[in-house]
Amino acid sequence: MPSSTEPPFRLEGRRVLVAGHRGMVGTAIVSRLESENCTILTVPHAEVDLRNQTQVEDWLAANKPEAVFLAAGTVGGIHANDTRPAEFIYDNIMMVANVVSSVWRQCQAKLLYLGSSCIYPRLAPQPMTEEALFSGGLEPTNQWYALAKISGIKLCQAYRRQYGCDFISAMPTNLYGPHDNYDLKASHVVPALIAKTHAARESGAKSVEVWGTGKPKRELLYVEDLADALVFLMKSYSQEDHINVGTGVDVTIAELASLVARVIGFEGGFDFVTEKPDGAPRKLLDVSRLSALGWTAHTDLEEGLRRAYAWYCDNVTGGGDASD
Ligand code: GDP
Repeated sequence: MPSSTEPPFRLEGRRVLVAGHRGMVGTAIVSRLESENCTILTVPHAEVDLRNQTQVEDWLAANKPEAVFLAAGTVGGIHANDTRPAEFIYDNIMMVANVVSSVWRQCQAKLLYLGSSCIYPRLAPQPMTEEALFSGGLEPTNQWYALAKISGIKLCQAYRRQYGCDFISAMPTNLYGPHDNYDLKASHVVPALIAKTHAARESGAKSVEVWGTGKPKRELLYVEDLADALVFLMKSYSQEDHINVGTGVDVTIAELASLVARVIGFEGGFDFVTEKPDGAPRKLLDVSRLSALGWTAHTDLEEGLRRAYAWYCDNVTGGGDASD
């Protein structure tokens, strides 16, 4: 852990790259960085495929960022993870391997790598501390993505040990918020429930389909809180150990469905589709390491859902009523 005498890393006046700026997390990081008085760089997707080593190498050599947030990745919910394993493992390993090695070779920037709470064993004791890594087998539905994310943590650690790079890793819990993916085949549970519940209210349907038994528990972090935590860590954390980012609180999927229904004003019921997978029974993060450094989440789940739903109404449904 950093000591109180460790100098903070300065963002002000620096060239800061956000890799993955078009995704939900990258968008939130870019917007959070706007108050940091730094120069924000983004990689044009048409020019640079992060899976291509030469393109990454050349872009970093030409643009020389001094800090890098690595938020790019092939991501998705339980169905996408389960049905597109090759993309999830290949894309994510290639992106982190290329960016980590090219940052070391071309610009020696400080780098913050974004992982996921799915790195932890399926049946890890709850809440899951950072030490739970490698203490058991992975959840089968997202083991491909998890393995890529674990490789990213280890790459950062290896480059720190062998070459002295200032590379750190943060493991966020399940995320939601503006700019989420609302494609039901690829989405996570929050955008899926928002889209399905909104459609049910609009059509006057009596119930909404919820995948699985409704019993798994998930911890949900509003993406703007995550962006704030990442900027905090970039400035104040410089250790080999990865660090959890979450709220420390979780809800069952059934409770989440009810909360989404309240936010949207849907008064019908829920059909639990038990042919669909539940995934991990629970994945609550122990966030005491991050709290001890001085950061805690502040957006309450219901408030975050209201903001996510307002974004959905403004941007996905083509304008609608998010006020009730
Ligand atoms: P996970 O945390 O990797 O399992 O990712 P998800 O956010 O995709 O799923 C979380 C939980 O929500 C799982 O138990 C899903 O079965 C459940 N769930 C319920 N309805 C849905 C839905 O419509 N879409 C998704 N993606 N998950 C759902």
